[in-house]
Amino acid sequence: MSKATIDLLNVADITDWHSEHDLLVVGFGAAGACAAIESAQAGNTVLVLERGSGIGGTTSLATGHFYLGGGTRVQLANGIEDSADEMFNYLMANTPDPNAEKIRAYADDSVSHFNWLVEQGVPFNDGFYRKKHYEQPTDECLIWSGNEKAWPYSQQAKPAPRGHKVEHPGSGGGAIVMQKLGEAAKQLKVKFQFDAQVNGLIKNKTGRIVGLRYKTFGDTYYLRANKAVVIAAGGFSMNKTMVEEHCPQLNAESVWPQGTPYDDGSGIQLGLAAGGQAIHMSQVFLTSPFYPPESLVKGILVNQYGQRFINEDSYHSRSAAACIEQPNGVAYLICDNATFGRPELKLQELIDAWDTVEEMEQALALPKGALQDTINQYNQYAELGKDPQQHKHADWLQPLNQPPFAALECSFEKSSYTGFTLGGLQVSKDAEVLDHHRQAITGLYAAGACASNIAQDGTGYSSGTCIGEATYFGRRAAKHANQLSPLLP
Ligand SMILES: Cc1cc2nc3c(=O)[nH]c(=O)nc-3n(C[C@H](O)[C@H](O)[C@H](O)COP(=O)(O)OP(=O)(O)OC[C@H]3O[C@@H](n4cnc5c(N)ncnc54)[C@H](O)[C@@H]3O)c2cc1C
Repeated sequence: MSKATIDLLNVADITDWHSEHDLLVVGFGAAGACAAIESAQAGNTVLVLERGSGIGGTTSLATGHFYLGGGTRVQLANGIEDSADEMFNYLMANTPDPNAEKIRAYADDSVSHFNWLVEQGVPFNDGFYRKKHYEQPTDECLIWSGNEKAWPYSQQAKPAPRGHKVEHPGSGGGAIVMQKLGEAAKQLKVKFQFDAQVNGLIKNKTGRIVGLRYKTFGDTYYLRANKAVVIAAGGFSMNKTMVEEHCPQLNAESVWPQGTPYDDGSGIQLGLAAGGQAIHMSQVFLTSPFYPPESLVKGILVNQYGQRFINEDSYHSRSAAACIEQPNGVAYLICDNATFGRPELKLQELIDAWDTVEEMEQALALPKGALQDTINQYNQYAELGKDPQQHKHADWLQPLNQPPFAALECSFEKSSYTGFTLGGLQVSKDAEVLDHHRQAITGLYAAGACASNIAQDGTGYSSGTCIGEATYFGRRAAKHANQLSPLLP
């Protein structure tokens, strides 16, 4: 962990309190917004300390996918059968270190959380975009945003589309989310202090967090929290030192880390200073979507031995993780004339095209006969609508037998990847920051990208999980904090 410039202070040392509020929220992205709104709706006074000069955070850069299910209005309007149990089964199956309590709560409350978001003004229409895309070009809401239909998850839970995209074509939905949540918070008289960098927490003699310190334009202030402090300050993708220490893949030359400059891990550092611990810090969402065009999903991914290693219909961060794991990070997407298309995102270069698979095999320096064997075997089964080796769904099976044959470069060091961090503070299902004994630090909560909950790695990631859980656990933090007895004056 990079050296923290962040302190834990003793209440006895603070003589000059600037003001006091029931809830202090550090950061106003998706998580902070929902914590602030939920708390203000319960009648609390809330002050948000936001380091930026306005609201938004990384959430405002997001596409605006929320992972929600169990029978939302949009699912029902499209005749989709889903249940909280199936959503639970799916998330349990594809989360590497699943916390059943949190996933149960998230799945059980998913419909009511969707309705709550709608009540706050977040717009979702009843459309259904059925194709495979990383960032759907239309404003239709419902999408397949994960691995639900891909093996082995298709066998572990009944597949259902659970991605809910904010009503907006293409990218940009996250900014709408933040605009709407900002308006809702202002209506509830949530107060904002912008250009305010929180750089310390304050504890009392029992260890309860009772306030914070922030800096604005060179001036330092101390604030009292009658009930609690919620850290909602985002991830650490832009902190090169922390990334190098925990998840150096994100610092690789071929990777474009995404986020705002304030994704520097200060939220995590605040929690650590208070005695919390960080978990899953080595895990990242790292991806390189090769589709659309959808036809490329009918191609096959092979490694430097000419062997397949993943079902190509997986969600793009799962296939990307599998490519990175191959020996020397070498991976190629092979297609024929019938399936070829230029990847829309242009993250993978076309290496070349050849009249025969044998010529391709030689040009890529694959072991003699290996790729020919792989393709022959693939084609034999694809004719029958089967893929016993990697279990790609029959929808995407088509023999690769139309020359010329093309190879797209998917190797980690030779194509482009993008991503962000997933590790964060260990928290309870009510977002309480936990110490090394897994005991809650009274008065301190964390939610969103600075906490670790459901989104744990790229292999199991479904688009919409980050904002879905940020908004949900932000609300849980506020609800739980509301039960704390207020501090005596
Ligand atoms: C391009 C892109 C697209 C994405 N699309 C999606 C998507 O569609 N669906 C999805 O689920 N996930 C998506 N993600 C991930 C998702 O956007 C984030 O995980 C999520 O927005 C994090 O929300 P948050 O509230 O935790 O943090 P943020 O939205 O980053 O908010 C944190 C806030 O805290 C402030 N802050 C930081 N430090 C301090 C401090 N010390 N003091 C005061 N304030 C501070 C920051 O300025 C910021 O405003 C995407 C990410 C990227 C980069």
